[in-house]
Amino acid sequence: MPRERTDTLIVGGGQAGIAMSEHLGRAGVPHIVIEKNRTAEAWRTGRWDNLVANGPAWHDRFPGMAFDDCHPDAFVSKDRMAQYLVDYAAMIGAPIREGVEVLSAARLDGPGGFLVTTSDGQIEAQRIVAATGAFQHPVIPPILPETAPVQHLHSFHYKSPDQLPDGAVMVVGAGSSGAQIADELNRAGRKVFLSVGPHDRPPRRYRGRDNVWWLGVLGLWDMAAPQPGTEHVTISVSGARGGQTMDFRRLTGEGVILTGRTSGYADGILQFDDDLPRNIAAGDANYTSVLDMADAYVARTGIDLPEDPAARAVYPDPACLTDPVRALDLAAEGVSAIIWATGFRQDFSWLKLDAFDAQGAPIHQRGSSVEPDVYFLGLPWQSRRGSSFLWGVWHDARHIADQIEIQRAYQRYEGEAAVVQPAAE
Ligand SMILES: Cc1cc2nc3c(=O)[nH]c(=O)nc-3n(C[C@H](O)[C@H](O)[C@H](O)COP(=O)(O)OP(=O)(O)OC[C@H]3O[C@@H](n4cnc5c(N)ncnc54)[C@H](O)[C@@H]3O)c2cc1C
Repeated sequence: MPRERTDTLIVGGGQAGIAMSEHLGRAGVPHIVIEKNRTAEAWRTGRWDNLVANGPAWHDRFPGMAFDDCHPDAFVSKDRMAQYLVDYAAMIGAPIREGVEVLSAARLDGPGGFLVTTSDGQIEAQRIVAATGAFQHPVIPPILPETAPVQHLHSFHYKSPDQLPDGAVMVVGAGSSGAQIADELNRAGRKVFLSVGPHDRPPRRYRGRDNVWWLGVLGLWDMAAPQPGTEHVTISVSGARGGQTMDFRRLTGEGVILTGRTSGYADGILQFDDDLPRNIAAGDANYTSVLDMADAYVARTGIDLPEDPAARAVYPDPACLTDPVRALDLAAEGVSAIIWATGFRQDFSWLKLDAFDAQGAPIHQRGSSVEPDVYFLGLPWQSRRGSSFLWGVWHDARHIADQIEIQRAYQRYEGEAAVVQPAAE
């Protein structure tokens, strides 16, 4: 039986794969989307129960469809986001094959293109778009030995407070996931310790506008590359309970105990770096810098936005900040669980090509791989700061569709270069 063929094979049916399908569909490029689970699986099962979007509904969406059942300033639930993406895929007629895993993709000798081996047979494709997500495999730093007398899990596997044994909880990592999970556990009546590393923490709202709007008008979503030294700084934002600025001093007032970065473990004792005041100060500086840039924007443009002095109020420093703990005796503090909100890694092991650097990261320019006819989508900072977010990936997908169209146009060309003498004067 002849193998199935397509022009472009998109691997992954999340928001990146759907956005890619929309742009290829518009350009008339034959394609298939292969999804090993279900459409938008990460939003369905890869998040905790109460997660809501980090950005308001008017912003965290694709241009072609608005949320029709909530206020534009609402932060939609993860399930609503999954449904949105499923509806969007149906609206554009995305040719998604669910429950099929891409096992490998390798270059075909002879005719060019790629041989893609899936759990449901082989497909030949002229091009491949890897849209498998930036947050694939949970990463836990090798700090705790298997024998440590405490349950521990990655934030990827955290669903709700009820899932954890009774007792206090240590949350490691204060990006958006860790800070929100610590807040949720604290509100559920748990004693919570939160290990805080370097982070940005923009204001949720300022002068009557949401952070996503400020990032837009200040050009920060479009920043092409991270500031040197801030490549891996996590952003701590939340849409929970209508959306509040992530303020670590406020959290301590509500009961959370902060520590520095978790650095080691021995004999039942978790150890922390001496960096908590520095990390909090850097987060504060980031917060203030956004307010300052926003004020400068108001002054420059004359836009009529109300003053907002309350945004510059600072809660008093709590004891855990002025005299941070450097070690935590887990048993003595009744810590029964540790949640590692310590990030994810990508996995392109199925792509049997020389397209990666020594760390396994794709080598690419705005998503176009060094390997011809291979594209990546949804990478952090793929073209700009917004690249791995819902609205940003849509714009990156458009760029990649353009690149594919350009290549297809060259490949369709059938002329023969001839030496044409200039016409006589
Ligand atoms: C906790 C959390 C909260 C977030 N909140 C927001 C938010 O509020 N707003 C926002 O804009 N962004 C948010 N993000 C960032 C980003 O929008 C999401 O991670 C989003 O799911 C990324 O979409 P994606 O399509 O790139 O990847 P994914 O959603 O991960 O989709 C990739 C798909 O590829 C499939 N796949 C992987 N390997 C294969 C294979 N070999 N064969 C076939 N299929 C495969 C997977 O099953 C998956 O469905 C959040 C991220 C996290 C981790």
